[in-house]
Amino acid sequence: MGEAAFWEATEDGKVACLLCPRRCILGPGQAGACKVRRNEAGRMVLPFYGALSSLAVDPIEKKPLHHFLPGSQVFSVGFLGCNLRCPFCQNWEISQELDRPFRPMSPAELVDAARRSGCPSLAYTYSEPIVHAEYLLEAMDLARGSGLRNVLVTNGCASEAVAVELLARTDAVNVDLKCWSAEDYGRILGGKLEAVASFIRRAAELPSCLVEVTTLVVPGLSDSAEGLRGIARFLAGLSPDIPLHLSAYHPAYRFKAPATSPGLLRSLAAEAKGLLRYVYIGNLTGEGADSACPSCGALLVRRRGYATELLGLEPGPGGGPPRCSSCSASLPFVLEAAGRSPRGSA
Ligand code: SF4
Ligand code: SF4
Repeated sequence: MGEAAFWEATEDGKVACLLCPRRCILGPGQAGACKVRRNEAGRMVLPFYGALSSLAVDPIEKKPLHHFLPGSQVFSVGFLGCNLRCPFCQNWEISQELDRPFRPMSPAELVDAARRSGCPSLAYTYSEPIVHAEYLLEAMDLARGSGLRNVLVTNGCASEAVAVELLARTDAVNVDLKCWSAEDYGRILGGKLEAVASFIRRAAELPSCLVEVTTLVVPGLSDSAEGLRGIARFLAGLSPDIPLHLSAYHPAYRFKAPATSPGLLRSLAAEAKGLLRYVYIGNLTGEGADSACPSCGALLVRRRGYATELLGLEPGPGGGPPRCSSCSASLPFVLEAAGRSPRGSA
């Protein structure tokens, strides 16, 4: 059982968790809303430290990340537990239920396995990695030390101190921005829009971290043009180069509403493209996934399912940002280091 950081003792043997905006106050023996942080005799402990629910090698596009090492593979690790309770969670077996088989692995063992896989990066993903911040911070330092890049896939619902520590070690992050209503964030999901927006803002300010954002288009939560405009305006205010993934929802867990219609996704994507340069459609086979140059319209990256072809991107001069092969515009992508082949086979 690991020792937790990000907590403080309160009165009567209680502890206050400072990791996320839920700020759980836990009496002796109680676990937080995420179920993976517990008060044990007046100290906060981590009963699921190093308990890994999943290990896999994925295409980076699956995270989804379209501008970071396109065409590469990423060694991906999942944990158990989550600080939100989205009723449409597609990973609910590992985010909401904890009686699942898991594999114990130390950060050093994880990084060693990632290094041996030949992938250029290591992703913390699937359920919510942030509730295991102590493990992540250790693994991220070791990963960087052995030449791997860190990828974080998160709901972004973290306190400021945790966001600062994690993002300083992150090379690329995909943040779920689930809707544009603070009321729905709290009532339906158990999260805080303000914390997620501040997480994204902080990531966008860091030149060392590439940020992409995903909104799952869920009926009644995030399928209105007005809500989508709020999200697109917010992102465009940070940078119109932030890629936005609008993903189709499919019924899962406690949510039975029909799947998002392709027509709705297309019209929301068209709306967002008025404000953002890179808007992708996710979970809809065969369309909306390619990258085009915003200056000349040339096709930069073609994606069909997880088959990715780099067609119009070339390394920038002197190690600068990549350029469009047609018009030489500088583009917000991170390419693999020269000499590494796509899909991590080097
Ligand atoms: S991480 Fe969030 S949900 Fe979990 S115990 Fe801490 S405050 Fe509560
Ligand atoms: S934040 Fe992600 S993992 Fe957590 S409940 Fe929501 S969809 Fe599931």
